[in-house]
Amino acid sequence: MSISRKDFLKKVGLLSVAGVGTAALAACGGGGSEKPAEPKKMAADPCKDTSGVPAAELQKRTTFKYVDASADPAKHCSGCALYKAPADGGCGGCTLFAGPVTQNGYCTAWAAKPEMG
Ligand code: SF4
Repeated sequence: MSISRKDFLKKVGLLSVAGVGTAALAACGGGGSEKPAEPKKMAADPCKDTSGVPAAELQKRTTFKYVDASADPAKHCSGCALYKAPADGGCGGCTLFAGPVTQNGYCTAWAAKPEMG
């Protein structure tokens, strides 16, 4: 049985499309039997969740020894001059690094907020 040139090109074209699709699925991790990676777990308190913070900013937290709960009741983020109070009831921030900061947090760069008078 002979095959026409037109039929041959159709079949080759379909096989090529199927091959490219399979290769594309394999390249992006689809089509295989492997399970997709687990999504990162978020902290229970969104004001302690640093999962979206860039590594360089996390390093700054480490450099300044930031903690979510200050050991010194007289020194906490909400009493610090560098604290950025939440604008809409969300999490606070710090002018030193990106990411959420708790009101009761603390780091070694703590500086007393100037008295309002
Ligand atoms: S400098 Fe430190 S203590 Fe002050 S707001 Fe930032 S993280 Fe809190």
